[in-house]
Amino acid sequence: MNGEFPVRFSPHNAKLSRRRFLKLTAAGLVAVPAARVAMAQNAEKVDVNSDAAKALDYHDDASKVTNPKRKKDQFCHNCQFYQGKPADASAPCTVFGGKQVANKGWCATWTAKT
Ligand code: SF4
Repeated sequence: MNGEFPVRFSPHNAKLSRRRFLKLTAAGLVAVPAARVAMAQNAEKVDVNSDAAKALDYHDDASKVTNPKRKKDQFCHNCQFYQGKPADASAPCTVFGGKQVANKGWCATWTAKT
């Protein structure tokens, strides 16, 4: 993988379901190894207007999310895919191929840290 979001989007799969995405992630088809993410501390930010961001309803400011799935205490900084400290303004996200996401962001793949 080259750091780009590895799932190709088309009109046929633009509505990639959260369940399918999680299955792909669990199967290792879209996840980025942790070591690679660790090297991506200076990676580019996720473009909120990209197909990948839109498919997962990513926002860099969770207060602007209208998705009814989001609970008010859900942010990137408390998601298991966030590879930084909660106080970091941004950090790599494994779901987005190691690109930086905002600590106050959110997407439909949010999963509580365990
Ligand atoms: Fe990544 Fe989690 Fe933020 Fe979604 S909510 S962009 S999976 S850190």
